Amino acid sequence: MRIALYLPGCFRSVIMHLSLAERWGGPPVGADQAEAWIGAASVGASLTIGSIRGIDVRVHPTFALLFLWVIYQWGIATSAGAAGIIFGTLVLLLVFACVLAHELAHAWVAHRYGLAVHDITLLPIGGVARVEYTALRPREEAWIAAAGPAMNLAIAVALTPLVLLVAAIRHIDQPLAVVLYADEVSVAGFVLYLWITNILLALFNLLPAFPMDGGRILRAGFSALCDRVVATKVAVVVGQLLAIVLVISGIWLGDYLLPLVALFILISAQLEARWVQVEATMRALPVGQFALWEGGGIRPEAPLAHALRGGPKDIAVTQDGVVVGMLWRHELLPLLSSGYQELLVKDLMDRSFNPVEATDSVYDVYLWLSSSTRPAVPVVERGVYRGIFTSERLAHVHQHVNRKTIRLQYGVVLSFLARLRAVAR
Ligand SMILES: [Zn+2]
Repeated sequence: MRIALYLPGCFRSVIMHLSLAERWGGPPVGADQAEAWIGAASVGASLTIGSIRGIDVRVHPTFALLFLWVIYQWGIATSAGAAGIIFGTLVLLLVFACVLAHELAHAWVAHRYGLAVHDITLLPIGGVARVEYTALRPREEAWIAAAGPAMNLAIAVALTPLVLLVAAIRHIDQPLAVVLYADEVSVAGFVLYLWITNILLALFNLLPAFPMDGGRILRAGFSALCDRVVATKVAVVVGQLLAIVLVISGIWLGDYLLPLVALFILISAQLEARWVQVEATMRALPVGQFALWEGGGIRPEAPLAHALRGGPKDIAVTQDGVVVGMLWRHELLPLLSSGYQELLVKDLMDRSFNPVEATDSVYDVYLWLSSSTRPAVPVVERGVYRGIFTSERLAHVHQHVNRKTIRLQYGVVLSFLARLRAVAR
């Protein structure tokens, strides 16, 4: 029974590295409430504590709450007092070094596939690696996902000789009995705690509950068999079933953190499923359909005053129907107060722009816009200017698609409930 009680205790010790924002990207435009919340929780207001090979390592302020837990768990619960607190702090720091190693393993493999890794943030519930978003091939996604748990298994394997030594000294002959010593304030307890933590970190993250690492590997497997959107849906459903199992076992074990974890899994799985659907829809939409026709743009020799008629905005500069530059709203704005009367359009136009074909997908343009500092792209058809596609336009399209996807998701749930009711009859 002690084991059953101990394991949830271990979970509480931050085993759960929930891959919340370990979403390898996601939509920076039109992010909804939940997404904004998770984004803020994972990255906002974090302190940078260092950098490993150009990847910033950050710590979220709520991390400090864990020290309260250390005081309780090692100082009070073990009645070891100050020595227990120092010991607990050391354990905590090492557990998080293992979480960091897990994230770095993801980051390292992602980097090998040419993806930019922005930063790693440590939260009380685990680590979050922010990796540049691109559509990954199933194999690549599986390898990136597998790298994290593999790192924890490798640490556990490396610790095994020490664990065997401790078992020999303490005459522990039952394999499961090691957990009884794991919260002891001693070197033996320290080694055992780290060993168990790494095994649990690996196993927990390998649960096939999307969007945890195991769920990603599962989706990659399904993607080899069917469309990515369908594969995601299947992986999400498997994850949701597992979340239900977590809720039930949490209540059964008396650990109310597990239902909370399940809730996180449900929310993130839902967000990821929606995003994959949004991505698929945006891929099918040609950008030409949403371009704004700004009266054919403006000529480079025109006075700048012409560009400012009706207020400053992003405008394409065209010559005989061909785009030769762009005027950006944010560059026109400061000119309103100072003199612009003397200037011509060509004096201010940006000559390094990225024209896109009207048949290019909204998704491709989204990828370009989110990696660029430019707020818009000129849309051309066989080299001839057809209109401008701005970030605001993109946000509108994204919002519209997102809303449609939510309705679609509710539709799926409703039809599922209707089917259940029919079966019940
Ligand atoms: Zn992971």
